[in-house]
Formats: sequence, C-alpha cells, structure tokens
Amino acid sequence: MFSAENILSALSRKSLRRQLRTLDETEGTLIRIEDRTLVNFASNDYLGLSQHQALREAAKQAIDRFGVGTGASRLITGSTALHARLEEQLSLLKTTEAALTFSSGYAAALGTIPSVVTSGDVIILDKLSHACLIDAAKLSGATIRVYPHNDLTKLRDHLVWAKQEYPDRTILILTESVFSMDGDLGALSAIVDLKDRFGAMLFVDEAHATGIFGKQGEGLIHQLRLSDRVEIQMGTLSKAIGVSGGFICGSRSLIDLLINRARSFIYSTAPPPAVAATASAAVDLIQSSEGDGLRERLWKNIRYLWQVLPGPHRTVEEPSSPIVPIMVGEESKAVAMAAAILESGYFAPAIRYPTVKRGSARLRVTVSSAHSEEQIDGLAKAIDRESWIQVARSADPTHDG
Ligand SMILES: *Cc1c(COP(=O)(O)O)cnc(C)c1O
Repeated sequence: MFSAENILSALSRKSLRRQLRTLDETEGTLIRIEDRTLVNFASNDYLGLSQHQALREAAKQAIDRFGVGTGASRLITGSTALHARLEEQLSLLKTTEAALTFSSGYAAALGTIPSVVTSGDVIILDKLSHACLIDAAKLSGATIRVYPHNDLTKLRDHLVWAKQEYPDRTILILTESVFSMDGDLGALSAIVDLKDRFGAMLFVDEAHATGIFGKQGEGLIHQLRLSDRVEIQMGTLSKAIGVSGGFICGSRSLIDLLINRARSFIYSTAPPPAVAATASAAVDLIQSSEGDGLRERLWKNIRYLWQVLPGPHRTVEEPSSPIVPIMVGEESKAVAMAAAILESGYFAPAIRYPTVKRGSARLRVTVSSAHSEEQIDGLAKAIDRESWIQVARSADPTHDG
C-alpha cells in the first residue's frame, strides 16, 4: 500500500531525502537563506546574466508592451513578436535554418525526441545523459540501448547491432556536449563521424555549453565546426543565458514538424513575453564584446579555483567547463561535507543518487564570471577545513541535488 511516510523515511535512512530551501533574496553571487548570507557556488548562471541590468530592463519593457502572461499556447494566441525574434536570434547563433523555444529544456527534450522516433526505431544514448533525455527516450517508445560514458567502441557495437536488427528504421543517438554532473565534454567529433558512417541521426544537448563555448557563445558544436552535421541541437535559456526555457535548432522542416508534433510545445501555454525578451537581450549580450569579457573572466575563475583547490579534492581531470565536481562517494559523507561548507558561508550542493550513480555522490561546484577571487579562495578554504566532519555530525542531513 502506498505510504508517503514510509517512502520518505526510507530515503532519509539512505541519506537520499531532499528538501526545498527558500531564498529570501539574491544579489549577484550572494543568496540569503534563513537569515544567512551565502556565496552561491551552485548556480548554472555561469555569466551572471540572471542579475544583469540590461535583462531586467528588457523584462520591464516587455511587460509594458504585452503584460505578464501570454494567455494561450503558441499555436493559439501566445506567439508574440518577442518569441519570433528570439527564435530568429537562436537560429543565427547556432547557424541552423530555424529554431523553436519551449517553456523549459526538459520540455524541449520531452517534446522533440518522441516527435522524431517512435516504437520500432532505435535510440542509443550515453549512460550519463540528463534525466530529460532518458525520459524522452522512454516516452518515444523506441528501443533503447545505453553505452558507457563516451565509450565509442560500445557505441559502434550498438550501431552495428541496430543496423542489423532494424535496417530500415531511424537510429537516433543522444548525448550532451558538456555533461551536467561531471563537467566533462562529450566526444562529439568522433560521435558525428560514427553517426555518419552508420546513417544515424544525432541529438546533442548543449544545456551547459551555450553561451560559454565558441567564439561568441554559440556552443561546443559550433566550436568544433560540426553545426551542419548535427541534426538536432538542443539548448536551454536557463543556464548561461540566465533566464528560463529551452530550445531546439535544426532544419526548417524539423522545426515545422515540432510545431505540429511536439506535445510539450502544442499543449502548453507560451512562455511569458518578459521571458522571451530577456532571453533575447541575453543572446545579444553573449555575442557582444561584453560577452567576450564575461567568458574570459569565467575561464580565469575556473583556472583559479583549480589552482587553489586543495590537492586531495582535485578528484577529476583539470576542468573543461564551469562544473567542477568534488567526488566524495558515500551519500551521507557528501551531505555532511555540503553542510560543513554551508556553515562557513558557501553553498555547493551534495549531488546524490538518482541524479548520479549510487556511491558516487559529490559536491558539485559551479563557477561563474561573477565570483571574485576572494570568494573562490574562501570556498577552497572551507573545503579544506579538517573540522568539517565534526560540524557535519550535528547538521541536518537533507541537502538537495
Ligand atoms: C538543466 C538541464 C536540462 C533541463 O533544462 P531546463 O531548462 O532546466 O529544464 C536539460 N539538459 C541538461 C543537460 C541540463 O543540465
């Protein structure tokens, strides 16, 4: 029999229970939670744009022009000039024929993948793929094969198998360009070569690459000159873009198909005008010289964190993105460590199963261009402090992630 209490206490016993934490205020990289001011090392707002004055202004202007809500889906009366402009900008940024925005990255994946493949087709995906790719794959009804993270030999084996078993069907490969919990990069060039050799299609989730990689923040696909070889490019407006929403870039016919098929697009109210306007302003910004400066600062901060992070906590290869996981292992230990760091005034979340594999819990530190060197130093010292074990013993074991 269903009992929420039983399920929750089982989660608590395994250090897997999560809880919401309410922010009372945000100012730059500082957040106020329960009367404590903390330096935020948990946000995916890598360029600090969520706090940017130009974006705040864009939101206010959009509200004055359209009000706060759209009142209907995009296909009814929700499709404003602001949405159209944003999509035009995104297709130019990603050098594709067209783009379509969704209310979230999650909704973009969930609407798109089942529009492209169905029962009888095949999806092959990286083991570390984001939950939205996994859920979309399941929803599509396609046959699913998983390859170990970036394991091209296994990917090739799956492609050989799929070609043999499903010779006339669509084979769609799913990967991320920057992996969200490990911060490392997908082997995109090699995957594109394999995909072409086997006549498969490729979907790449650039949630953590858009705004950061490429000369003007186009993403990793563009940086690697693969834009015309990836059939479906996904991104979010909620990370380096600093706002909220997701998008798909691809051919005109792919986008027209999604307008007709993607259920998370069709049956959902259009995102507020202010969201579209703010994302537009952000896309302008990441392509400007100010954007160049922010990216420069971001990479400088990433290098600086690596330099000051105590040796034993450099548990991964040198970071290739703003996501720097500090591997801990045991769930309870990661939660205790996050609590101890919080005591010192820094917020970096413990990430646990099912977000990552059981026993591979970690602190997930994310760096932004808006952090100061003093803040990064402070975090490194807090991580280093030997006393964290004692502090943690008495702490609340319910940090999220
Ligand atoms: C955050 C994230 C998403 C979901 O995007 P939202 O806009 O937050 O819904 C999708 N894929 C990856 C890899 C992500 O990290």
